[in-house]
Amino acid sequence: MSGTVHIIGAGVAGLAAAVRLARGPHKLAVYEAAPQAGGRCRSYYDSSLGMMIDNGNHLLLSGNRHALSFLSAIGSEGQLRGPPEAEFAFADLVSGDWWQLRPNPSPVPWWIFSSQRRVPGTNARDYLGLFRLVTSRRDLPLEIVLRRRGPAYERLWQPFFLAALNTPPALASSHLAAAIIRETLAKGGRACRPLIAAHGLSAAFVDPALAFLSERGVDVRFGHRLRAIAFDAGRASNLDFGAEKIRLAPADQVILAVAPFNAREIVPGLRAPENYHAIINAHYKIAPPGNLPPILGIINATIEWLFAFPDRLSVTISFADRLIDVPREELAAKIWEEVAEATKIDMPLPPWQIVKERRATFAATPAENARRPKTRTDFDNLLLAGDWTATGLPATIEGAIRSGHRAADEIAAN
Ligand SMILES: Cc1cc2nc3c(=O)[nH]c(=O)nc-3n(C[C@H](O)[C@H](O)[C@H](O)COP(=O)(O)OP(=O)(O)OC[C@H]3O[C@@H](n4cnc5c(N)ncnc54)[C@H](O)[C@@H]3O)c2cc1C
Repeated sequence: MSGTVHIIGAGVAGLAAAVRLARGPHKLAVYEAAPQAGGRCRSYYDSSLGMMIDNGNHLLLSGNRHALSFLSAIGSEGQLRGPPEAEFAFADLVSGDWWQLRPNPSPVPWWIFSSQRRVPGTNARDYLGLFRLVTSRRDLPLEIVLRRRGPAYERLWQPFFLAALNTPPALASSHLAAAIIRETLAKGGRACRPLIAAHGLSAAFVDPALAFLSERGVDVRFGHRLRAIAFDAGRASNLDFGAEKIRLAPADQVILAVAPFNAREIVPGLRAPENYHAIINAHYKIAPPGNLPPILGIINATIEWLFAFPDRLSVTISFADRLIDVPREELAAKIWEEVAEATKIDMPLPPWQIVKERRATFAATPAENARRPKTRTDFDNLLLAGDWTATGLPATIEGAIRSGHRAADEIAAN
């Protein structure tokens, strides 16, 4: 009587739902439009660089508990690497200053009183402004809630919120910004260790999840794009994959874990975010200098984060809408100038790749945040998952996995 759970979309949200349900009584069927799983969080072989790279550099924090529990369930928590304590290196390309931000491990934030641990040029009072942010009742643009002048904003909050929200911080949702602070910085440095998938996103999040599911008899059916759902008497009754149509049995349920623009085409009248922002990643095939930190925040430059992998340097530029139509050759050369300046590498442009994700995440503004739907829909047997659903977090791996867990828990509870 438990029926089949049909999971549409094998991004991390869909995979998390499937992994959570795989031990339960339900039969599972997972469908993915693309030839591979992972969605916006995956690795691929890049023939121009001759190596595996990720579609985008992804940073997690040790406070991302749903992401970590997903990795632990599929046996790949060891794939994430980071320093033993929270530390973030920054370089200012205009002043030439370098510094490290080092929140202490416990939740009592004594690091803000230490000039060795906080941002140079700031004092402890500059950090107390966060209190207003985390206690703000209304979801307002950050510019109303956070003081936007001075070194604390320019050297910390601006780059931090830009990276986490992929939205100009002035316009971004105070509730989403506050949620990140509550789940990371407010819990102390122990929840803020930066973590990256050392051998790529697929090796950490995707391949072990597929293996976990396969061992339990659940295969992902690739090349299955859901085109429409037929509804009858307040329930989803048929799934239309074009050549294949599936009639749902009375106990069957559906978790739709696709991007919002796909979901809106499939579910009539679905209210969901409508605006997106781009992220651009630039990859250069060159071994990093030995003294370069694994992740470096860059201030006063076009580039924002520089990731040093053993075989390449990779750059992330968030809210990159202004650059999306710039020719790739021009971008590669311009970004390399800044990388060379930050790293003191005196070399002409190495082999490169530019990856543009036009709709990387929904715009994390208060208006778009208010458009995010809950897990349950108006249709009895249709649930939603994805980083754009009402997780309370911005579009992140943590939010996506949490949404998948929520959908699975709703089904398990019923
Ligand atoms: C460049 C970039 C950098 C990022 N950096 C970070 C970061 O540093 N830290 C962080 O936490 N997050 C980051 N993110 C965000 C993170 O990648 C996403 O939040 C997360 O991957 C979203 O997962 P999802 O499963 O909700 O959606 P998706 O990954 O979009 O998965 C949806 C899946 O559904 C499939 N699908 C769509 N339509 C259909 C259909 N009709 N039928 C069947 N299948 C369908 C798609 O092919 C896809 O596989 C970044 C994203 C990008 C693009």
